[in-house]
Parts: sequence; C-alpha cells; structure tokens
Amino acid sequence: MSTQRSTTNNSCQQDAEFAPVTSTMTDQIHNAWLHAVLDVLEGLHHTCPSCKNGEVKAVFFGDQQSRRGYILAWCDRCNTGIHISRAKANKNVHIESRDPDNPLHKQIPNFRPIF
Ligand SMILES: [Zn+2]
Repeated sequence: MSTQRSTTNNSCQQDAEFAPVTSTMTDQIHNAWLHAVLDVLEGLHHTCPSCKNGEVKAVFFGDQQSRRGYILAWCDRCNTGIHISRAKANKNVHIESRDPDNPLHKQIPNFRPIF
C-alpha cells in the first residue's frame, strides 16, 4: 500500500487572500488609466480614474510612418496623468507630430505623473 496522507496542500489557494492590498490598488489605477487612455485616443470620453471627476485628455506624439511614439494623458481637473513611452498607435488613433513647432506641445499642462 502506498502511503496516502490526507494532504494539507490546499494552502496555495488561501495565500492569495493575503496579497498586499497596496500593490493591487496601484495595479487597478494603472489599468484604469491605460483603458482610459486607449478610449480617449480613439475619440471616446473618459472620466479620470484618479479623481473620478475630471475628464481624461490624451495625445499621441509619434511618427506617421512607423506609428510609434509616446502618449501623454492627463486629467483636466486634478492634473494627474500618465506618460506612456514606446507606444504603437492603432489604425484609428490620430498621431500628432513630435516636431517642436507643433503648437500642441505648449497646450499640454505640466501634469503630475501618478507613476
Ligand atoms: Zn482627475
């Protein structure tokens, strides 16, 4: 007969409950911002994930040919935002020129990055 012990190996499922809350919260806000940015870049409106009050604004600066660049997104109310580098634009995303002469650069507020 093999020694079949009644196992106490179920503990890994229970461990998940003890995941640190802070990192989960950060992940949730991070994901919420990413979703918001993608929506806004495709022309939708999105409430700010941080203050739930303002509206998210987002601009994709990049190269028309490669459709690669970076994204600046911010809230018009609480002035928090996110900078996503090395992004690739979907087909329906409008790409702004990275040229310093582009007047849009000056219109972007000096927002406070949340990450
Ligand atoms: Zn906000």
